[in-house]
Amino acid sequence: MNQSDPTSEPLAILGGTPVRAKALPYGRQQINDEDVDAVVQVLRSDWLTTGPKVDEFEEVVAAQVGAKYAVAFNSGTAALHGAVFAADLGPGDEAITTPITFCATANCALYTGATPVFADVCPETLNIDVQQIEERITQRTKAILPVDYAGHPVNLDSILALAERHGLVVIEDAAHALGAEYKGRKVGSISHMTTFSFHPVKHITTCEGGMVTTDNPDFARRLKMFRSHGVDPEARRRSAETADPWFYEMEVLGFNYRLPDVACALGISQMKRLEGNLARRREIASHYSEAFAQLPGVVPLAELPEIKSAWHIYPIRLELDKFTVGRKAIFEALRAENLQVNVHYIPVHLHPYYRKRFGYEGGEYPISEGAYESLITLPLFHSMTDQDEKDVVAAVSKVTQHYAK
Ligand SMILES: *Cc1c(COP(=O)(O)O)cnc(C)c1O
Repeated sequence: MNQSDPTSEPLAILGGTPVRAKALPYGRQQINDEDVDAVVQVLRSDWLTTGPKVDEFEEVVAAQVGAKYAVAFNSGTAALHGAVFAADLGPGDEAITTPITFCATANCALYTGATPVFADVCPETLNIDVQQIEERITQRTKAILPVDYAGHPVNLDSILALAERHGLVVIEDAAHALGAEYKGRKVGSISHMTTFSFHPVKHITTCEGGMVTTDNPDFARRLKMFRSHGVDPEARRRSAETADPWFYEMEVLGFNYRLPDVACALGISQMKRLEGNLARRREIASHYSEAFAQLPGVVPLAELPEIKSAWHIYPIRLELDKFTVGRKAIFEALRAENLQVNVHYIPVHLHPYYRKRFGYEGGEYPISEGAYESLITLPLFHSMTDQDEKDVVAAVSKVTQHYAK
């Protein structure tokens, strides 16, 4: 073999030279001078928190996804909490969601006193399986909380049809899927409510932040009340004109979930680069998928023809019977090559809190649990260089070839 071929070197974990000298994270933000200037301008202005930048950021996001309303929150988790509140979930209600997600998707139902019920995923995409949802619908079911895993939209037509038949609200957790498309339509304009996150590893960032988009004016009103102590901002404006100017009324039990103007200014600036970010992520993902098609035992996620993924993360699954070692050894060997690989996700029902509270023991969701055993998330973010991308392919080739049976 060619001496300069990195895949012919001994593994770093066995004392060889790592594929790269500097650690490559699995996800990372990109902040440019324009972002910094936008933030500084707001810092020097009269408004630090709720001011004109909030409305402007909401308008930018609503226009981008093609929704009538967008309501900003100070995290994706707060956005989920707002959405389940707007859908009127409460004690005795059930919301059906997927085990293959970040725990916040299921936790938001618990915040309201409702119960999350899990439905297993499809083996090809690891998105929630519509048939499995249907089997879990009861008199108590009030909402479906699907997740666009890795940025691949769920089967929205079937889920919405099912929701319609049973009178359920669909709250799509699109934390991975800003800019994704389903049958030519943008995610954020399709479900009853769609939530996004602007955490630094996502497609754009506001440091912390989130958004709910919807076409329903009543949901939008409830979302706005909920994020600011249960006070309706429109009612407050109206009564300020007619009644006592200091007057405000708390109508529901809300929180302080407001996203500051400073963060919104960053979001507005970041949104200008969303299309470019998506294009770059799609390019890297397609290079990976091309390279890994040649690698025995490495299986990328399926991409269905009717969607365009936003590629938040790039998970691979290992066909473990083709290797001499398990997932953990391969994971550790990739880390030693200086790829900060990760795993998305530990199935939610297997976390100690869910085990203790609901008695899960493992074995309830075999497809999710089996996928979890074989998953590794590779580095993927829009500011990756061509060399970063080559290093990922080289390290995965080197490690999987070394451990191939
Ligand atoms: C990131 C993420 C969230 C939570 O968003 P935060 O902004 O970190 O609160 C929720 N669900 C999924 C699937 C996520 O990836």
